[in-house]
Amino acid sequence: NKQIVLKNFIEGRNPRETDLEFKISKVSLRIPKGSGGVVVKNLYLSCDPYMRGRMRDFKGSYIPPFVPGLVIQGFGISKVVDSDDPNFKIGDLVTGFTGWEEYSLMQKTEQLKKIQPEDIPPSYYVGLLGMPGFTAYAGFYEVCSPKQGEYVFVSAASGAVGQLVGQLAKLHGCYVVGSAGTNQKVDLLKNKLGFDEAFNYKEEPDLDSALKRYFPQGIDIYFDNVGGSMLDAALLNMKIHGRIAVCGMVSQVSYTEGIKNLFALITKRIRMQGFLQSDYIHLFPKFLEFITSNYKQRKIIYIEDMTVGLENAPDAFAGLFSGKNVGKKVICITHE
Ligand code: NDP
Repeated sequence: NKQIVLKNFIEGRNPRETDLEFKISKVSLRIPKGSGGVVVKNLYLSCDPYMRGRMRDFKGSYIPPFVPGLVIQGFGISKVVDSDDPNFKIGDLVTGFTGWEEYSLMQKTEQLKKIQPEDIPPSYYVGLLGMPGFTAYAGFYEVCSPKQGEYVFVSAASGAVGQLVGQLAKLHGCYVVGSAGTNQKVDLLKNKLGFDEAFNYKEEPDLDSALKRYFPQGIDIYFDNVGGSMLDAALLNMKIHGRIAVCGMVSQVSYTEGIKNLFALITKRIRMQGFLQSDYIHLFPKFLEFITSNYKQRKIIYIEDMTVGLENAPDAFAGLFSGKNVGKKVICITHE
């Protein structure tokens, strides 16, 4: 069984390729009778920034740390190859938490959901139609309180979450600007994903003036995927009664300066709210229906960045933290 294991816990820095190790071990492809479990062949694995938190020796988070020396887990798409659970039969496609390995034996199956992709690629169920897509949906509609005509700013805008936030905001009749870390991503945002404007934050000597240039009238909604200096600059450019949805802080580990402009929360009566997509999970069926229908009508598009081969997973995962991924990063386990 090909596997990816965590070597050691990391602290105070972003993950590197060498923090994860590719291993080969033995596995049984038969599920013990009476266990009620399944054996799955994993097909696609989702690379998500939150997994960095599980690489630390910290037990106080909403999700426990990985165990050094053991296989790591994440969202995946898998095929059932043996089953002792009447709800799943051999050949079923499922999505849920799985190991970063070729085959996984699952004693517990409650968290697995069957999928029937029809004319949608199965891998989309860990992106557009999975946790990141749902984060965009819940964050935009439930946290941002958007109104037609409002001015929306999205950071890490070409990523898994950002690309959908921008498109939802456009569907809602908002004016949308995105920031991203390469000119190729900026081009995608403007010419493919329908953002009104986009800029490469790495080429801006001063983020405050960049935002003033793109939002001379101020920002109503900032969908924050990065924290750090971009959050500080956005605070200076929010409108009165603006909203900041704090979705992620992917830049925060390497940002040592601290947020300086929080006083703007008072002077501009800004509502800044952190959220976890899982708090809104009751909306998941509605989300699935809405996004599937818009995707099929080509009102929403989706950019996926696929790495082939489990042995390439450590590099693919570490790349999230240097912006190597262009769109949602997914690993396709086998080369077939
Ligand atoms: P992405 O697909 O956007 O990948 C991460 C991207 O972040 C990179 O491509 C890079 O894009 C950008 N990035 C990396 N390092 C930095 C940095 N130092 N400064 C600025 N940008 C950086 O990831 P997701 O869309 O999956 O996740 C986006 C955010 O949403 C993350 O912060 C994640 O933790 C959060 N999240 C929160 C959830 C919740 O429930 N609250 C659920 C899911 C995700 P670029 O080249 O543009 O810099």
